[in-house]
Amino acid sequence: MAATGRAAVLLSPPDVGADERASLLEAFDSGWVGPVGPDLAAFEAEAVEAVGGGHAVALSSGTAALHLALRIAGVEPGDRVLVPSFTFVASAAAVTYLGAEPVFVDSEPRTWGMDPALVARALEPGDGTPAPSAVVAVDVYGRCADYAALEPLCARAGVPLVEDAAESLGSSSGGRPAGSFGEAAVLSFNGNKIITTGGGGMLLARGAAAADRARYLATQARSPVPHYEHEEIGYNYRLSNLLAAVGRAQLRGLGARVARRRRTFERYAEAFAGTDAVSMMPRGTAGESNCWLSCVLLDAGAGLTPERLCAELAAAGIEARRTWKPLHTQPAFAGAEMIGGGVCEDLFARGVALPSGTTMSDEDQDRVIAEVLAVVDRARSGALTGGAGSTDGVAA
Ligand SMILES: *Cc1c(COP(=O)(O)O)cnc(C)c1O
Repeated sequence: MAATGRAAVLLSPPDVGADERASLLEAFDSGWVGPVGPDLAAFEAEAVEAVGGGHAVALSSGTAALHLALRIAGVEPGDRVLVPSFTFVASAAAVTYLGAEPVFVDSEPRTWGMDPALVARALEPGDGTPAPSAVVAVDVYGRCADYAALEPLCARAGVPLVEDAAESLGSSSGGRPAGSFGEAAVLSFNGNKIITTGGGGMLLARGAAAADRARYLATQARSPVPHYEHEEIGYNYRLSNLLAAVGRAQLRGLGARVARRRRTFERYAEAFAGTDAVSMMPRGTAGESNCWLSCVLLDAGAGLTPERLCAELAAAGIEARRTWKPLHTQPAFAGAEMIGGGVCEDLFARGVALPSGTTMSDEDQDRVIAEVLAVVDRARSGALTGGAGSTDGVAA
């Protein structure tokens, strides 16, 4: 980030304070350092309450939770698993940990989540390819995928659905909270997420038996006998009791954090209402998305690429980031199957995530707004020439 003499405005920094500190030190002083302890069980119980049901297992990361969710869903080597292309790499990486193949699916413009019409097509028996053994749907930037369509599709096909709710804790869809869809849902408490433990995640299983199996696999698949006995291979994936204590304090502030992020989205929406150069990510019904990151799309006629906008903002001490580069275009997934593709490629070609953290002051957000509008004006008047990203935003 370029030096500007002013503090940088970051995309989504951790928001921790006295409550988290007190909770952490209390756990430390209690002697329950880890791995398991009373804060871990309490954090799980409180998370279940926050998402209105399920059986929680606190884990070392959202990625670990995805891995376990898919293993418990029965995904095996060689299986095909439907995953949206427009997501963070972890959604698909977990599929490969099991030796299975991600089959990427395009987004729909309404939610930016995986397109149910394309999922329906992929679940249809027929053409000789083996049926997918699981579907991972992702709540992109906080907005829930279209579960009203996806849940019945998966149920009819008998294919387990996993909700990647890493970005959507505090959101809802059709009156149901994020984290409550599918056979299992996954939360992340990474540093940039809506709440953080500094690093951590959670599996929310519908059934108690699935949660028990996840807990067992997350602690080296140790059989319940006095000596070390292992009938299968597990993982060391449990969250530590100390970090669970931080998570408990964060969770108490979830409502306020969601309200703050929604307000940030509203303020951007108001500020950009007067320009056709930028439009907000479709928000859907008010009060549903947690508005984790406020994203904008640049109009094709704005003469401005996302890469250039990010570079100009960085020069002003503002951290913005391009939206997900579709996974089917990532070298690591070269050769993977892709169903559709035009929508997510467009979201990448025109999308930028703007600073959305709960610690951002109104003054700092006003700075971001003024800078975006100034860059748009410079692009329009032809004053924006040369420099990084002045030509093609897609070829990075
Ligand atoms: C952050 C994130 C993950 C991974 O969570 P970690 O806790 O960082 O492992 C998975 N999926 C999505 C969509 C994410 O944004």
